[in-house]
Amino acid sequence: MKLVILDRDGTINVDSDEYIKTPEEWVPIPGALEAIARLNHAGWHVAIASNQSGLGRGLFDVASLNAIHGKMHKMLAVLGGRVDAVFYCPHSPDEGCQCRKPLPGLFEQIGERFGVDLKTVPVVGDTARDLVAGATVGCQPHLVLTGKAEALRDKPLPSGVYPDNTMAHKDLAAFADWLIARAPAPRPVVGAAPEDVAR
Ligand SMILES: [Mg+2]
Ligand SMILES: [Zn+2]
Repeated sequence: MKLVILDRDGTINVDSDEYIKTPEEWVPIPGALEAIARLNHAGWHVAIASNQSGLGRGLFDVASLNAIHGKMHKMLAVLGGRVDAVFYCPHSPDEGCQCRKPLPGLFEQIGERFGVDLKTVPVVGDTARDLVAGATVGCQPHLVLTGKAEALRDKPLPSGVYPDNTMAHKDLAAFADWLIARAPAPRPVVGAAPEDVAR
């Protein structure tokens, strides 16, 4: 199974220091939802791993978070795309949980749910803690230069901040293009009629 794990805020949607508390405040980064749909069409399943400490801080409730994700799923469906699952940490930093990134709890949950070897799974995010959480359990780290990393565009990545094998991409659309181009082209079915080969 081909699985990609994405951060949410700053990777799929425009981030806010005031937190994303309502569906109205959830606005996709241009091209990000289309990128997820392209990944889906190339056979990739997509899961989200997201810190949502605004829950633990009492800034919004689970009903609001569900409504936000409802908007995301609906906008994606219009484009023919789909996120299979959203895993989130609802805790505030002082609760000492195991699922708040940079700890890998969400990634372990996703690995169990999907039954995949996490070493085959790319993780995409805009902060070091996204990538550290994934790299801790063996995922391949990919930084998108949107959200908190937008200031790093046209600059070398600072050393010692991101996992050693981190690759940087302009945005989620550029990551999707890279991943799809990297995948080997499907082999033609032996004996298929020529008009079937390229499907
Ligand atoms: Mg983020
Ligand atoms: Zn947590």
